[in-house]
Amino acid sequence: MADVTRETILAALGGVKKSEGGKDVVSLGMISGIVIRDGNVGFAIEVEPSEGAASEPLREACAAAVEAISGVLSVTAVLTAERPAQRGAGGNGGAPDAPSAAPQAGHGAAPDKSQKIPGIGAILAVASGKGGVGKSTTAVNLAVAMAADGARVGLLDCDVYGPSIPRLMRLSGQPETVDGSNLMPMENYGVKCMSMGFLVEEDTPMIWRGPMVMSALGQMLRDVRWGELDILVCDLPPGTGDAQLTMAQNVPLTGAVIVSTPQDIALLDVRRGIAMFERVDVPIFGIIENMSYFLCPHCGERSDIFSHGGARETAAELGVGFLGEIPLDGAIRTASDAGQPIVLAEPQSPHTAAYRGIAKRVLDLCQAAEAGGDRSAPNIVMM
Ligand code: ADP
Repeated sequence: MADVTRETILAALGGVKKSEGGKDVVSLGMISGIVIRDGNVGFAIEVEPSEGAASEPLREACAAAVEAISGVLSVTAVLTAERPAQRGAGGNGGAPDAPSAAPQAGHGAAPDKSQKIPGIGAILAVASGKGGVGKSTTAVNLAVAMAADGARVGLLDCDVYGPSIPRLMRLSGQPETVDGSNLMPMENYGVKCMSMGFLVEEDTPMIWRGPMVMSALGQMLRDVRWGELDILVCDLPPGTGDAQLTMAQNVPLTGAVIVSTPQDIALLDVRRGIAMFERVDVPIFGIIENMSYFLCPHCGERSDIFSHGGARETAAELGVGFLGEIPLDGAIRTASDAGQPIVLAEPQSPHTAAYRGIAKRVLDLCQAAEAGGDRSAPNIVMM
């Protein structure tokens, strides 16, 4: 199958005219946020707010042009429009395909890192150098394990592009709006959750520009009635690009953990992740090695199928902590797929013991950091 690239997508879109006889959408600079994931393509078409509904045929034409590229499996094209800042957009939270309700753009709308969030004791970022290493699964199991241990826990899905918390926490439906501008978190397994997945249609990959992401995140952080929380666990989008950096810069994080698999640990991704948090002065509590070893479900024998132990060494080399290891086990995936975190599905299992041990260490580190330091307004350290 031919590789789908940004260039082939732009070439196809270059054939789509905004109006008959007019210029094409690429020359007009209307295309942004191209995302390619295994043949699934998403992109945004920027239109004037007033042209939102009338642009639907253009959106369809763009989607059809990209669908015709060999190797493309699915296409999601969304219309976006910038609006002047406006606080408290309320219930919709800004579906990107509804320009009239799009989250406000502009840096003024970004969450202000210097402002702590009343009622929230600590904010933990769960990050990874790349996708597919089990970051969301880890965030969910840590959150649920902390709640099972009696902590008051919130879980914020910061991945506005591909939210997975609703599925992993078996939550659906829309959050309730209160006072016209605040949202009630959705709750399951004793954890209060908020995700863009509650606010827009499922299976709609979301394409946002930076300021929009920040304002959507700001709303999910500050316009949600979290109540009193000991900890808010933030499931960051995979990777360490600009989006993650902006987030780490704007959210008053107490600290971060980085999830990696043993085969990826030595890669640059993890180092980049560490460097990113260091740049914005967010303490790194350590690395969690996921899919670390295989525990035979029949005989209980442990096999180190990858070069297990690398994370501990890499952590030491990089001067960050090592928080623990989670085995590779089909039961973790099966439970996740069924929307039941393994720590609840198999409370007596060794996997649960591993998650609970890490959860306790991380919660202790968060509480110690909060007790000992001021997490407001860290400065960017240029390297
Ligand atoms: P990420 O958030 O890093 O993209 P996910 O949490 O979505 O990754 O996990 C990717 C896949 O790996 C999912 O199918 C998940 O169920 C599975 N998975 C995660 N951790 C484990 C594990 N320890 N053992 C087996 N499967 C796992």
